[in-house]
Amino acid sequence: MTDPISLRELDAIGVDRLQGIGEQRRTSLEEAQIHSIFELLTHYPRRYIDRSHEAKLADVQPGQEAMVVGDIESVTSRRTRNRKPIVEASLSDETGTMDLVFFNQAWRAKQLSQGLTVALFGKVDRYRGRLQMTNPLVDLVGDRTGRIVAIYPQSNKAGLTTWDIGRWCTEALRRCQTRQIADPIPENFRDKMGLVDRMSAFEAIHQPSSMSEVVGARDRLVLDELLRVQLVLRMRKMRRLHHALGVKHSNQGDLPDQFIRGLPFDLTAAQQRTIAEVSADLESDQPMHRLLQGDVGAGKTLVAMYAMLMAVANGHQGALMAPTEVLAEQHYLNLFELAKHLEIPDESTLTGKRPLSIKLLTNGVAGTDRSQILKGMHDGSVDLAIGTHALIQDGVNFSSLSVVVVDEQHRFGVEQRSVLRERGRPDERFPHLLVMTATPIPRTAAMTVYGDLDVSTLNELPPGRSPIATRWVSDELVSVWEHVRSEVDQGRQAYVVCPLIEESDKLGASSAEKTRQELAEGELSELRVGILHGRLSASEKQQTMDSFREGDLDVLVATTVIEVGVDVANATTMVILSADRFGIAQLHQLRGRVGRGSHDSTCFLVTTEEVSSDADARLRALEESTDGFALAERDLELRGEGTIFEQRQSGRNDLKLASLARDRIWVERARALAAELVDGQGSIDQNMPLEDEVRWFVERRDDEAENLSRG
Ligand code: ADP
Ligand code: MG
Repeated sequence: MTDPISLRELDAIGVDRLQGIGEQRRTSLEEAQIHSIFELLTHYPRRYIDRSHEAKLADVQPGQEAMVVGDIESVTSRRTRNRKPIVEASLSDETGTMDLVFFNQAWRAKQLSQGLTVALFGKVDRYRGRLQMTNPLVDLVGDRTGRIVAIYPQSNKAGLTTWDIGRWCTEALRRCQTRQIADPIPENFRDKMGLVDRMSAFEAIHQPSSMSEVVGARDRLVLDELLRVQLVLRMRKMRRLHHALGVKHSNQGDLPDQFIRGLPFDLTAAQQRTIAEVSADLESDQPMHRLLQGDVGAGKTLVAMYAMLMAVANGHQGALMAPTEVLAEQHYLNLFELAKHLEIPDESTLTGKRPLSIKLLTNGVAGTDRSQILKGMHDGSVDLAIGTHALIQDGVNFSSLSVVVVDEQHRFGVEQRSVLRERGRPDERFPHLLVMTATPIPRTAAMTVYGDLDVSTLNELPPGRSPIATRWVSDELVSVWEHVRSEVDQGRQAYVVCPLIEESDKLGASSAEKTRQELAEGELSELRVGILHGRLSASEKQQTMDSFREGDLDVLVATTVIEVGVDVANATTMVILSADRFGIAQLHQLRGRVGRGSHDSTCFLVTTEEVSSDADARLRALEESTDGFALAERDLELRGEGTIFEQRQSGRNDLKLASLARDRIWVERARALAAELVDGQGSIDQNMPLEDEVRWFVERRDDEAENLSRG
């Protein structure tokens, strides 16, 4: 064969085809998830040592930072009087020697051995007349030459060194020389974006001759990763548009508008725009697949309700699915209240009308209630069903479900969609789907994770909300409880959130109990303090929430079970204990439980121990902003994509080099290019290599997902 080598082919060649990789090395590489030449070549360097910045030992000055490269002459380890490990080594280059000291890094004795060539970064001191570095950064250089040396992520456990990996990459690339690595991106597109070809990119990322070459190589490989993701999403969307039929609604019938007119306030402009987007979708016979994102309190529920009422007005049913029973009940109560005056045409009654029927279905609903509701869903006398995953279990069948709203649910996959079609509809059509999330995610991330969804954004809060003052308190906790007492004196209420401190306390019962007891016996002794945590039964939780809502409790001590959905306008103080243990998104969600009424609200972020620098950045971000979208961007910068791809969600491993925070511009470019390649000219079905690469990529991902779920 003389065609250039595709990634599919590279992925089919095992690493043991390389020299010096036998059984043992192969096993080590497998532990590092490197099975094929493709996986080896995409095991990218973690950083580079630019040896033109290297200092000679004869030239380094005490008091300054330096990078030196030399050989280890000797290594010894001992313990201090208070049993702390110390590893000492000496280093030499052709111009001099230096001592190295490592405190509390006993493992260095194993890492460093006589004769090893290492690069060291650190501050140089003079100690007893000799040069010394204390706890320097160490990179093992091995015998590699060249001005720029790539340093690979190493796995000490698997015993793979950075120079082993470097050598294998070099060999693999050398053996690709004759055929070259195929580049499925047409040259004119590459030129337009100023990108090098794929072979050059692989060479330059592994064996660069300058740092600027690394930048160009990285851009190209980043685009490759992002483009594959975008192509999959784009092609999936096109397939859905072409093959799946939805239920066509008309805007006839007054029901949705009657609902809006009955509200005691006007819709925000963002709500109006979003409702228009959703109704346009419902009027089409292509199934809607839309993400509705909006900050806490932005008013997503009304949009969802409008969509479901449009289903009812057209003789169909709507369903809303929440991730937990508490949330489902909350939604049910909320919607029931909003809908209680609504009537729909019914010729079988004397008035020609009947009240809208809305029911709750969770696993907590049992007995005759349950069978009544199931019967009503099946014969169509239930118009709206609110519930948990119980809604799509066996034995649940709708008469004609046409709008499904999923709240806070990231894991709603293709399978569930087919279940909805099968149990939800008498025909082959798909119900329309609206996914609501109150965890705003940055634009580029939305494009990557939800790229096949249309996105509506409620970027505006209803008027009259008072901003929430946020204070990070690390001492003077007394002032926090004073604030709570004074708010309660004025008739307001407060939440106190405690984190799960111990692994053994998964439901937070003991952490919350302890806090409640301390407060009730101490700082808040004259107040009525209730408690909410995961070990309480559904009815106990309900009872507590009801008492709090009715004002029979002043303070609610809770775990994060109150994170979403709880809506008590009279609560004006949120105290989050050990706030450094929460992430930005979670803190923002918790804070959103207050500021729901017309009174000024305050959120206290309490920390009692010294916090890490990451936690410091998070808490400052919360103090500085109440804008969920800005916070989401900040979170992405601080934590990277790990937060966006849920643990087992496939896709996480698709981005090895690309960063959604750093490479925003490439996400946009990849998306535009995917659109051009899929629907535009240079269409993908005439680009066999690219189409095959996407197919290979999806197969790989499926295998990976399967391995994950097995493992
Ligand atoms: P979300 O689900 O986006 O967090 P909700 O739909 O629960 O927000 O709305 C939060 C609160 O704001 C509810 O009490 C709701 O009645 C109220 N609300 C919604 N839209 C408006 C509006 N346009 N004007 C005033 N209040 C509104
Ligand atoms: Mg809500």
